[in-house]
Amino acid sequence: MASDLASILLRKSIGSMTGHRVHCSSCRRTPLGGELMHRFEDERTLCTLCLRQLGDQAPAPVASERVSAGERRVALVKSAA
Ligand SMILES: [Zn+2]
Repeated sequence: MASDLASILLRKSIGSMTGHRVHCSSCRRTPLGGELMHRFEDERTLCTLCLRQLGDQAPAPVASERVSAGERRVALVKSAA
């Protein structure tokens, strides 16, 4: 009975963690800790690799955020206009 409860709590905890996970809208890859992700007005999020592939046609991101290795966010950097 106790192991059932522990199992349920563990699954619920893992499910809540994956719900907040950031991924690239283009390549669907989950970024590594320390990697920079770029958020756009249309709610898309692109990794730096996919953003560079767009070249000169790339729209300006609304914000760029470094992915934290832990649960807490470290920094939010606004992009240059
Ligand atoms: Zn990508």
